[in-house]
Amino acid sequence: MKNNSKEEYKSQKLLITIEDVLSCPGQCPGCLTSLQDRRSREPSMAKEVMHSLIDRIEEYMSVNTFRSIEIVLVIGDHLYLDLSYIKSLYTMFVERFGDKLAHDDSRFVFSAALYQHYDALYSYAKELKSINDKRIPLQINAVLDPLNIQRRASLWNEQLKFIDDCYNKLGFPIEVSMNLSVLAANAMSPREYYIVAKDFNLPEIIVNWTPSINNMAYTYSDLKIIENWIQEFTELLLNDDDLTSDYIEALLSRRDSLLGLDTIEGLNQQIKPLVKNYLYIDSDGNILPRFDAVGDLPHHKTFGYNPSYNIREHSLEEAVDGIYREVARSMLKSTTLDSCQSCIHKSFCTLSGYHVYTDLLRHSSKFDILKNSPLHKDRCPHIGKVVFDTVFKEKDDKH
Ligand code: SF4
Repeated sequence: MKNNSKEEYKSQKLLITIEDVLSCPGQCPGCLTSLQDRRSREPSMAKEVMHSLIDRIEEYMSVNTFRSIEIVLVIGDHLYLDLSYIKSLYTMFVERFGDKLAHDDSRFVFSAALYQHYDALYSYAKELKSINDKRIPLQINAVLDPLNIQRRASLWNEQLKFIDDCYNKLGFPIEVSMNLSVLAANAMSPREYYIVAKDFNLPEIIVNWTPSINNMAYTYSDLKIIENWIQEFTELLLNDDDLTSDYIEALLSRRDSLLGLDTIEGLNQQIKPLVKNYLYIDSDGNILPRFDAVGDLPHHKTFGYNPSYNIREHSLEEAVDGIYREVARSMLKSTTLDSCQSCIHKSFCTLSGYHVYTDLLRHSSKFDILKNSPLHKDRCPHIGKVVFDTVFKEKDDKH
């Protein structure tokens, strides 16, 4: 992953995140879904919407050239539904795009929370491996909830055993992620999380800090705890040549590509390609731009945005043409805070997806969800400054 990332950011890989399942037996405090969403046992995206989306992707490919494709199915536990759901969806995507977009870095990834018994999970993994098509390989994104370390220790141990056996015995690709919240940070130290990946020789480990209107009471209630956690975790990864995380790779690649450009030049050159290659389709079929700060951050209603384009009425091409102007406005507005004026990362920050955190604070202050909003304090309103300081200092010190 470390060696591929720069290449990925410069090249034409189409990454489409699809919010098709919200059901989940888990209770991560940092999750974007509501309790009501999670209770369902049905896909959140209607079949007809999924079929239109596949047609829209094909249409999009007829007017754009992409080297490879990454389909990422989120947010809930896909294995909470019948296994036939993910199998048939995967087969459909491979049939439509397997020949055109077969490539080393094409992938079809789906989220799973691993609440089923070990034996069931292992037999699902074996079944999925048997239908795996190397043109667009299948991969599991296992979302771990650190609160289970204390709440359900035997489940936690089974989850870890499954990850180890899936990756190391079965040879089926699995990535590990967690949703960072104040409770999760208190339940598991950065080193303990880092060790999960080291123990199983995983090449990558993912952390999502995605405060939303639903979960702010858990994700934003103590920013210092979150900052300290992410700083220590980032330092561990930067000092390890074999393990990385996508938020670090994205920052380093983007810094290289923005070198020497001011904010407006950067916006002009980079926003349209970024929006064009990274899209998020929500359960209702809304077409949203997607960014990667620490975790996936689309312009989703749960962060306070109103969608303007839907696959029922618009092609992806039409949506991208309209969306990138909205994105540029939102990015430019995000660093107009007093605290940003003297920040050395201001220009870079504007173009790196962290504006979604600031927009959420602006929006949520209307609802008074968060008392003493960091927007009105003399500090970075989110974890951006700590992440940028840590990544760039460690990297520059090494050179
Ligand atoms: S890192 Fe924080 S303080 Fe610096 S420009 Fe970005 S939002 Fe503002």
